[in-house]
Amino acid sequence: MRGLQKLGVTTIRELLCHYPFRYNDFSRIVPISHTPLGERSSVLGTVVEVKVKRPRPRLMVIEVSLADDTGLLIASWFNQPWLQKTLVKGSRVILQGKVEHSFGFRRMNSPLHTSLADDADAGGIMPVYRANAAITQGWMVRVIDDALARIPAPLDPLPPRLRIKHDLMSRHAAWRAIHHPPDIPTLRQARRRLAFEEVFFLQLFMLLRRMRRAAAAPACVHRVDGPLLEALRRSLPFTLTADQHRASEEILADMAAPAPMSRLLLGDVGSGKTVVAALALAAVADSGSQAAMMAPTEVLAEQYAGKLGPLFDAAGISWALLTSSTKARDRQNILEALAAGSISVLFGTHALIEPDVLFARLSLTVIDEQHRFGVEQREALRAKGEGSDLLSMTATPIPRSLALTIYGDMDTSFIRSKPIAGTITTTRVIGKADRRLAYEAIRQALERGEQAYIVCPLISLPQSSPEAAPERDARSQEGQGANRFGPSEEDELLEQELITEFSEEPDEEEGHIQAAEQEVRFLRAKVFCERNIGLMTSRLKSAEKRQVMEDFRAGRIDILVSTTVVEVGVDVPNATVMVVEDADRFGLSQLHQLRGRVGRGERNGEVFLVSGTRNEEARRRLGIMERSSDGFELAEFDLRLRREGDILGSRQHGAATLKLVNVIRDADLIAQVHAEAKRLLAADPLLEATDHHHLAAELTTIFNPEDARA
Ligand code: ADP
Ligand code: MG
Repeated sequence: MRGLQKLGVTTIRELLCHYPFRYNDFSRIVPISHTPLGERSSVLGTVVEVKVKRPRPRLMVIEVSLADDTGLLIASWFNQPWLQKTLVKGSRVILQGKVEHSFGFRRMNSPLHTSLADDADAGGIMPVYRANAAITQGWMVRVIDDALARIPAPLDPLPPRLRIKHDLMSRHAAWRAIHHPPDIPTLRQARRRLAFEEVFFLQLFMLLRRMRRAAAAPACVHRVDGPLLEALRRSLPFTLTADQHRASEEILADMAAPAPMSRLLLGDVGSGKTVVAALALAAVADSGSQAAMMAPTEVLAEQYAGKLGPLFDAAGISWALLTSSTKARDRQNILEALAAGSISVLFGTHALIEPDVLFARLSLTVIDEQHRFGVEQREALRAKGEGSDLLSMTATPIPRSLALTIYGDMDTSFIRSKPIAGTITTTRVIGKADRRLAYEAIRQALERGEQAYIVCPLISLPQSSPEAAPERDARSQEGQGANRFGPSEEDELLEQELITEFSEEPDEEEGHIQAAEQEVRFLRAKVFCERNIGLMTSRLKSAEKRQVMEDFRAGRIDILVSTTVVEVGVDVPNATVMVVEDADRFGLSQLHQLRGRVGRGERNGEVFLVSGTRNEEARRRLGIMERSSDGFELAEFDLRLRREGDILGSRQHGAATLKLVNVIRDADLIAQVHAEAKRLLAADPLLEATDHHHLAAELTTIFNPEDARA
């Protein structure tokens, strides 16, 4: 079936693991006339009328009258023209929202909506599958039922001991219940069982891969008490914080051990990860081997060279910088020196991965902002040194549960405190009409001789199509869709999911979305006419980007208007004010990273999050930014309602196998599973016990053997 293949389903197992992404719980539908006023309810009815109104320019209202046997309800949505296609007269829909009474009718404002197929069987808890044009819900239900009927009560890959210990239902029962839940408690049990195995298999896979890697190539035993490291320590202009010290001790201990290091260094923006990496690089120089440090952008790579280069020079550590803008002649020289082993540390970008970049003896790979790279890219660099140590760094604060889930084969070091206390960045959420407050703050900052950022979600305004020219990473994986999910009571979550449809369309917006190119023109012409305003987007060539950054750093640009390209690592201490336009379009983690660009010097930072959203959840979400400056807490909010596969996409190994797990909600489960996986492999590293045969077979089924070797 081509339709199924498009969904990534090619085997019975994959079919059974094509879980409903939500359910329609018809037992919870309330007759329209019985809906309590002022509360959220779900109603099911037929669309009897659709009206489109345009009360003023830029505002479009769709009003739908919905009828059931008991009464009539009017639902309205703002600026969502596409709804006309789904909410047509005669169609049957479920609406979920707060019921209000005005002008003689029950009403819902922007309710969640779900269209039902005409033949939909409305009883009990009905699964809803991700489907596509070639596949209808009804067909999907039949095929899955067929598959459920055909598989004999299958052998359960989880050893009975584990199932008893963790009170897990059999896989067969779980598959049945997740596709046809008799009731919500059973559905919960089924989810738990299947989530357990998702995490368990992924953990086993990652731990096994690590064991295999360790066995395949002995790692370099680094010297961690050498003179160059000592010289670097002495030349540092500050003393390490306790967290930095502990992290670097952990890293150096790994490097001195014969097993290859796989360590993730997590620390908020400005927590001082770079210097910790620098110490590791120095140990490599002491050991007579080589290190590569890769950054996702040229700006960042140049920043290492600019900051660490002089320290390395002072300590006597040889280094070079290689990016795609390195001139051919220089590149040739660097490659030769590298192959000869006369360069100890090579900083760079993706350019380091090029096949002709060859090291005499690469023993450490450092990858900064590691989530910005694909797995293949990270592995490609690491593979240039057999058995080389790996230090990954990220400023996206990941809760421990997520770190365990996706980096189960990595050790983690956390830097939680910031080295430079004292400056405080205040954050305010303002409506678009109050933007002048932000401009006033910028004006004052400029008068003090400081600088400002204005961040826009788009590079340029859409021409006519609704989604022209969105900045590629304006809604990066973290930001993707996050604005639609706000925090909510965990207990209600599953129930809420039952009827919730996260519509694929953007939120209703008041006015248009701010775009960098137009913003620059506007500011130059109307607001800051006498100031120098620079523009930075991913559309610029790298030489242009570098020029803009240099001008900004040197103070030749007063206001830098940009897309999220400034998110990563940019360090201009004189910039003190940041305005983020349409802030609701970004994930909280991303906003947190962005705001880390100000308040880096002596002066406090001021951040204005401008948003015109009327979505209550989105507004509440942004409000968290005013109250919390803890990156980990913000990341948790972002992650709470999403599944890992959604966050990580295919970029992370194995994450595609995670369909049910949510790292925040399932944090306890993840910790338990991680411990079990470790215990099991400690007792039976080759999965040879009779009890573990199905487990071994299952792993081979799920994971490509190719991946296992990586
Ligand atoms: P990040 O973790 O975001 O990469 P950086 O490594 O860029 O952070 O460090 C942020 C700033 O803090 C840099 O300017 C760095 O020189 C400074 N810094 C790092 N460690 C210390 C310290 N222990 N004391 C004082 N300043 C420090
Ligand atoms: Mg950094």
